Amino acid sequence: VWNNCLSFIQDNITPQAYKTWFEPIQAVKLTDCALSIQVPSKFFYEWLEEHYVKLLKVSLTRELGENAKLVYVIKMENTYGNKLPFTEKIPSTQRSQMASQEVDVPIKNKSPELKNPFIIPGIRNVKIESQLNPNYNFENFLEGESNRLARSAGLAVANKPGGTSFNPLLIFGGVGLGKTHLAHAIGVEIKDKYPEKTVLYISAEKFTQQYIESVKKNNRNDFIHFYQIIDVLVVDDIQLLSGKAGTQDVFFHIFNHLHQNGKQVILTSDKAPVDMQDIEQRLLSRFKWGLSAELQHPDFETRVSIIKNKLYRDGVEMPEDIVEFLANNIKTNIRELEGAIISLIAHSSFNKKDITLELAKKIVDNYVKNTKREVSIDYIQKVVSEYFQMDVDTLQSKTRKRHIVQARQIAMFFAKKFTKASLASIGSQIGSRDHATVLHACKTVDNLAATDKQFKKFVEDLNKKLTL
Ligand code: ADP
Ligand code: MG
Repeated sequence: VWNNCLSFIQDNITPQAYKTWFEPIQAVKLTDCALSIQVPSKFFYEWLEEHYVKLLKVSLTRELGENAKLVYVIKMENTYGNKLPFTEKIPSTQRSQMASQEVDVPIKNKSPELKNPFIIPGIRNVKIESQLNPNYNFENFLEGESNRLARSAGLAVANKPGGTSFNPLLIFGGVGLGKTHLAHAIGVEIKDKYPEKTVLYISAEKFTQQYIESVKKNNRNDFIHFYQIIDVLVVDDIQLLSGKAGTQDVFFHIFNHLHQNGKQVILTSDKAPVDMQDIEQRLLSRFKWGLSAELQHPDFETRVSIIKNKLYRDGVEMPEDIVEFLANNIKTNIRELEGAIISLIAHSSFNKKDITLELAKKIVDNYVKNTKREVSIDYIQKVVSEYFQMDVDTLQSKTRKRHIVQARQIAMFFAKKFTKASLASIGSQIGSRDHATVLHACKTVDNLAATDKQFKKFVEDLNKKLTL
């Protein structure tokens, strides 16, 4: 009877699903119209109930008529599970011998659904929650030189999961450069294009916790089973597996299973595979099978567009010079860049003040721990005079030639802006002027920048140079 059922089932599901969920089942008893089947675990039973109950019902009804009943027998869980490496698959005939203490499901107490598995009120079609964040998508993952390869590889994978040579796709790069965002984006895109595919995003940390939990609860095999039925597995921050031999081992087997079955694996790491420490060689070599794509530090243009995009999405306006100031001062971490923008907006709205450069500076100081940004007055004079193609002596001279006066005023303006020096000190360093002259210079630069386009451009160019 069961064999007939099986061949019917086999015709109606994918070979993979059949292999995973039906081959391990054994028919154990047939009385009247009740068939008992033995399943490897409670998890297995629940999975069958949730996903294949209709199919089971139909197949069994064909064999045993309308009154057909199905009884599950759950094998003692993991009598061998943690002792044998699960690569050595135990033939199912042997299994029942090993698990000698089979238990009938205590039907009445266990779960009301079990009384009659066929009469399940409103069959829940429980799917694996993908754990994807829809806010991390390709649309808002801005493209730039720094991420072009990784982004387009991600798109290729999303278009044909498991069908490219980018398997696994390993995205690596420093903190806050978009690894998690891109990994989600790939999953989100796949879900969009292939809704029937089972996609799962998980951090390596959570994966490890789950694994440890499964060992404690003696259901390591269920854990493995669960991961083996996924079509697209995204594991974030894979470097966290370093030094965790057990988790690496289990991941290795899950990886192999998925890979062999043409399932897509996407990994992220804060290091290139060559630099990963305490990760088993066999796992590292698997990582290199596909494509390793690096997310590099975004260049200035990309930083500006990321900021503008964020502002646009938040419906906030920010003066160009502040945008550039941020882009110039937070270079190596997009998360910090976003954090600074959020603080800036919060501060200004909280204090009901405009977003000013002053405020931006304060906030950036909180984000940029090093003091590289502090430029010296000498450096400012050098950069300004180079820009106007004069030497520093000319800049400091007593001449009243307009373009030289302006250059000097701009140097004073930047000295005020970028250093903590007092007006008097700035004056004495830039051509022995007094503090009133410096103050006047700053006001003049502000005024001219607001009215004279050409002048404004000088100031902007120099601002960029000084903050790069
Ligand atoms: P990582 O995982 O590499 O530490 P995340 O993926 O968490 O970095 O990215 C940090 C922040 O930067 C996120 O808010 C993300 O949306 C944003 N981000 C990163 N790269 C981009 C990009 N290319 N375009 C837009 N936002 C980005
Ligand atoms: Mg991350």
